[in-house]
Amino acid sequence: MSDSDGAGDRAGGQSDGSEDDRVEGAPELPADRDAVRDALVDWYEADHREFPWRRTEDPYEILVSEVMSQQTQLDRVVDAWEDFLDEWPTAAALADADRADVVAFWSDHSLGYNNRAKYLHEAAGQVESEYGGTFPAEPDELSELMGVGPYTANAVASFAFNNGDAVVDTNVKRVLYRAFDVPDDDDAFERVASQLMPAGESRVWNNAIMELGGVACGKKPRCDEAGCPWREWCHAYQTGDFTAPDVPEQPSFEGSRRQFRGRIVRLLGEHDEMELDALGHRIRVDYAPDGEHGREWLRGLVDDLDDDGLIEADDGEGGVVVSLRR
Ligand code: SF4
Repeated sequence: MSDSDGAGDRAGGQSDGSEDDRVEGAPELPADRDAVRDALVDWYEADHREFPWRRTEDPYEILVSEVMSQQTQLDRVVDAWEDFLDEWPTAAALADADRADVVAFWSDHSLGYNNRAKYLHEAAGQVESEYGGTFPAEPDELSELMGVGPYTANAVASFAFNNGDAVVDTNVKRVLYRAFDVPDDDDAFERVASQLMPAGESRVWNNAIMELGGVACGKKPRCDEAGCPWREWCHAYQTGDFTAPDVPEQPSFEGSRRQFRGRIVRLLGEHDEMELDALGHRIRVDYAPDGEHGREWLRGLVDDLDDDGLIEADDGEGGVVVSLRR
């Protein structure tokens, strides 16, 4: 579920299924791709937002949810979706409806452009007249339905038939950009998204990665709070640079400092004490004692935490040793 076909987002490209196809300009994905996949699917299956369309595999119901969510907040779509299906529970019922009633429903529920209601009505008619009342299962055929672009066709193929490609919407792009340092380029996003998706598992995978982008890796990432399953591989988490294609500004200096303060405290909770450089190397991959984010930067954070009474820093002969204040 995401933004519309008209917004320029596209379904993922076809993968050749190879683990070795590289994306030009993109860094290598983690070697253990299965571990990356399993971690995300396990995280999703343990807990996720319970939208009612996630409990159905009916292509008509899923198409309605996709069209409605193109311009409307998901929380608001829930009531409209349920009301719509009460009124027109099947594609056949919708095809038989008076178009004016469908458009009126759309306006009454503030669902955005009325054309979408007309197209949905028309698409239901096509399913009845051209497909004998049975939805096609292939993305190419689904995109022949009125108002159904490649993004929506792929979403319906994935969620109804487990037969789609990797979804690439703005949420997914943001996740891939941050986690695997994928360049801001549609082809690169599509290739990486396809490489990551486990073959034949578009239903759970697309739900899971979109959930990650929706609840953990939003514009303001909630890496630790949301228990992001990709922290150990994530480029942004390791470097503290959480910019993304749709989040162009650097997060505030203070925001980024907070992240690292949290990391220091967590790490010291696992160790009795740590030498300053050892700590630095554990909290960011680009730590270099004499570099921009080196000893001086780290000492500033440590001193702040010391002033706040959270940790202790001892300047001994062998260097600075840091520990939690107990
Ligand atoms: S660790 Fe944070 S930045 Fe990285 S993918 Fe997870 S939520 Fe996004």
